[in-house]
Amino acid sequence: MLILQDPRCVEYAAPGHPEAPFRVRDTAALLRAEHPGWEWREPARASDEDLLRVHSPEHLRAVAGAGEDFDADTPAHPGIGEHARRAAGAALDAMRAALGGQKAFSLMRPPGHHALRDRAMGFCYFGNVAVAVLAARAGGAGRVAVWDFDAHHGNGTEALLHGAEGTLAVSIHQWPGWPGTGTKSFDNCRNFPVAPHAPPTRHLEILERSWEEVLAFQPDLVLVSAGFDAYAGDPITQMSLRAEDFATLGRWLREASQPAAAALEGGYARELPRLVEGFLAAWAG
Ligand SMILES: [Zn+2]
Repeated sequence: MLILQDPRCVEYAAPGHPEAPFRVRDTAALLRAEHPGWEWREPARASDEDLLRVHSPEHLRAVAGAGEDFDADTPAHPGIGEHARRAAGAALDAMRAALGGQKAFSLMRPPGHHALRDRAMGFCYFGNVAVAVLAARAGGAGRVAVWDFDAHHGNGTEALLHGAEGTLAVSIHQWPGWPGTGTKSFDNCRNFPVAPHAPPTRHLEILERSWEEVLAFQPDLVLVSAGFDAYAGDPITQMSLRAEDFATLGRWLREASQPAAAALEGGYARELPRLVEGFLAAWAG
């Protein structure tokens, strides 16, 4: 397992914000302690060329020069432009490693799956995974699928990839729930809403159907938006997955033959490090 990580990603925070440095800091510490054989690498930052496949030049300038907060959830942290570039760069490096036959995980913040072409939202500034999908396509990958099991609809990834040839965007998420989209499937976008407080067995059934949809696409590469906020103990959602369920998702990845990389999206419970570790250990096998 290759972990893409830049320690500077814990250097921004806002008081009381759930997207907090402990998420990466404590997860990195646990992974290093429990898996000393895993490889760690500092990612390159994403280039303008990579970001401009999904974002407007105005958006790149807005994130680089972040002055006013983008919204109440998405502050203009000092240096957020560079943090966001490094997170997108880590998704890109994870994608390239996966195409080279490695299993790779981007352990970075900020997350990305809510960012739109012209707008930062939902703790996200750049669409990290969508950036990696279109870079893979530009580099010659035939069919690239996103599997997003974060508890929130991957509205940004959906908007950025809608209609893009050779891509599939699959999201499983709580509905009703923020951001309120993701109720219907259309074109190359597939949505699997799950009711709040659904039993974990029901949620897993829906996850399995969504995974079958990914495999039916016969992707040459799967990029996973790995959010862990569908955990029963998460403070900002109403879902019921248990720690062992995230290991099940990792096992499915291991059992599939497709090259795959994953990037951290949400997950705000103090137990996040253990959830990530269970997922990655099952995937690594
Ligand atoms: Zn989320």
